[in-house]
This record gives sequence, C-alpha cells and structure tokens, in this order.
Amino acid sequence: MSNNKAVKREVTRKCVGCGEIKPKADMMRVVKSSEGVISLDATLKANGRGAYICKSADCIKKAIDRKGLARSFKCELSDGVRDSLLEEFDKLGIR
Ligand SMILES: [Zn+2]
Repeated sequence: MSNNKAVKREVTRKCVGCGEIKPKADMMRVVKSSEGVISLDATLKANGRGAYICKSADCIKKAIDRKGLARSFKCELSDGVRDSLLEEFDKLGIR
C-alpha cells in the first residue's frame, strides 16, 4: 500500500457541558433519536442528532443543568433523562 499520505488529523468536538474542544475519541455522545428518545451513545455512531460530552460526570451534569443538551436537541429534558444519563455514565465507570 503506497497511499499513505493521509495525515492523521484528530477529529475534535465541543463538549456541551464545559465547552472545551477535545478529540472525539475522548468524548461520549448523547443522541436524540427520531422518536425523541435521548440516550447515551457510547459507540458515537447511533442515528439521530448527537451532542458530545467529555468523559466526565461533571460535564453531563453541566450539559443538562446549564441547558446545553436542551439547546443541542431543541427540547426540554425531563428529570428522568438526567437520571438515566447519569446512570449510564456511572455504569461505564465515568464519574
Ligand atoms: Zn466537558
């Protein structure tokens, strides 16, 4: 293979929690499906509108409490969504 000129440029995304820009690989994605269901997308590939968040429980809390996620998804988030996203982060060992 000689086609080796692809310079690895890191894909970055802005965290909707703290606002920092980080490599996508270091982030989690929250996705809103076409049915309006908001869930954690650890694969970063699920269909739907996505928002990126650092791998930090603080950032998911900020993203929810400061309405960053609500802005990204153009909808209000219920308390249930907050709890379940925090639980998903917790299950992945992100605190
Ligand atoms: Zn962040």
